[in-house]
Amino acid sequence: MGQLLEALKGIAIPSSAEQVVREADVAYSKRAETASYIDHLEVKIKNLEAELEQLRADKGIPKEGGGLEFDSHKGIYHESSTGLNYCPKCLADKKRSPLKVERHGWQCGVCGSWYGNPDNPPRVISRGPRGPKGWMGA
Ligand SMILES: [Zn+2]
Repeated sequence: MGQLLEALKGIAIPSSAEQVVREADVAYSKRAETASYIDHLEVKIKNLEAELEQLRADKGIPKEGGGLEFDSHKGIYHESSTGLNYCPKCLADKKRSPLKVERHGWQCGVCGSWYGNPDNPPRVISRGPRGPKGWMGA
């Protein structure tokens, strides 16, 4: 499935528009032969995106999830176009909350959820073994 169709998933669009989106998707993925054709399609896509925004606004469908990929390793959503990470908990709640980068993970400024970075876990603070002066040796 192409990017545009994927973005339009779940939204009822006129079949005429869907056909255009399909064609645009195919042409886009094949890097259409001529630049002018691409320009032509880009104008079409822009128009469709504007139309899509309008449709979404009309139906109250937020933009959540669009352009985001779930990183199953880190457990958070990533947007490659901006490099930002997003809170999966907020996304489930139809909110798009970018995560703040912390030393050992990411924190959501909206719901406060914290997501640890599996590639950079915090060092476990060890208090060391209890010596003879421990609680029993007092
Ligand atoms: Zn959140």
